[in-house]
Amino acid sequence: MRIRYGNVPAIIRRVKLEAIIVDQLSLRVRSLSPSRTIAMNQRARALRDSGVDVIDLTVGEPDFPTPEPVREAAKRAIDEGNNFYTPVAGYNDLREAVSRKLERENGLSYRPSSVMVSAGAKHCITNSLLALVDPGDEVVIPAPHWVSYCELVKIAGGIPVSVPTLASEGYKLRPESLAAAMSDRTKAIILCSPSNPSGAVYSRPELELLASVLAERPRVWALSDEIYEHIDYTGLPHASPAQIPILAERTIVVNGVSKAYAMTGWRIGYLAGPAPLVKACIDLQGQMTTNASSIAQRAAFAALESGVTLIGGMQAAFLRRRSLVLERARELPGLGLVEPEGAFYIFPDVSSYYGKSAGGKAIASSDDLAEFLLEEARVAIVPGSAFGDDHCLRLSFASSDERLAAAFDRMGEAFAKLR
Ligand code: PMP
Repeated sequence: MRIRYGNVPAIIRRVKLEAIIVDQLSLRVRSLSPSRTIAMNQRARALRDSGVDVIDLTVGEPDFPTPEPVREAAKRAIDEGNNFYTPVAGYNDLREAVSRKLERENGLSYRPSSVMVSAGAKHCITNSLLALVDPGDEVVIPAPHWVSYCELVKIAGGIPVSVPTLASEGYKLRPESLAAAMSDRTKAIILCSPSNPSGAVYSRPELELLASVLAERPRVWALSDEIYEHIDYTGLPHASPAQIPILAERTIVVNGVSKAYAMTGWRIGYLAGPAPLVKACIDLQGQMTTNASSIAQRAAFAALESGVTLIGGMQAAFLRRRSLVLERARELPGLGLVEPEGAFYIFPDVSSYYGKSAGGKAIASSDDLAEFLLEEARVAIVPGSAFGDDHCLRLSFASSDERLAAAFDRMGEAFAKLR
């Protein structure tokens, strides 16, 4: 494109050109909100890089190294020449290992051909939504919800239908609310248990109640995000909608090694579901990304074949930190707390601070409070608005005990200034 600018200064030219380009981008990306968790995390990083001592509680990933046997498997994979494309759905032995894991740990029977490996659980969710959702289809998402679900539904052309849940009910979806949220256009519901951000964990009986509502709507799929499966404080066996007979043939189980084995950067997730749906996902992935990294797949194989032996230390650390942050959060006045049953976040209701101010800064929303805490306490957290609940803040406890204690010291001082 040629644009006549005459003597317009270079900076203005660039801004104008950028505006023209933004105008030409697809409606798909123009209606997209960038990930607010990643944005907050990057702000914290930038501040730290410029020398400010920021405590970053935005992180959605374990702060441990990947277990040694998994790292060794990856090193061997490099030396043994795994430099070629793999089958689109993943190495056959990895699909077999996933199938064994689902049988052993979840009592679910999937043939390896009904399993697909992708670049992270997020990519599995993307593939599933693209395979299922047509323009105008609705997808029910209980709120508070993980930041990406609504945006991924929109990318697929669908309409996210966010359904609020109550703190007093542990942020779990009531069967009546599910029934009221569905219409003839409903194509799927996304369930996340243990939940990011609320930590809610659905028990088998709770899932059965939701399933009885879905029984009335045989066209509706359940997309079950089980990425936090192993970070669960309930002591109960992990429950999946796929275990419930009436949902088995219309559930997609999404899981991966990111959270359980401290492997977020390796980018390996997997999904399992009815064969035609999995085939559709494989066809999509074959056109879009081919396969997940060959080296990371070999590492994920070692992780899954180790069962749960490598993750006990991390689970114990999360349990200890959960107690620590709950104790410290209870000391802060005015916070509404629901104890997380799983995952590594607390999601306190902070709305009692709305309407207060400090140093001329008024707090009217979770965004304002997150900004205030970043500036005043140098603690980075994610505002609840990013998860569809503006009353709350999400604090990750995937950080050392010392850093968590220091963060609460600082936040205590900052909250005390709000009047
Ligand atoms: N689902 C939820 C609920 C998550 O919190 C995350 C990571 N923040 C993911 C999926 C993505 O997992 P992965 O890194 O394996 O893509």
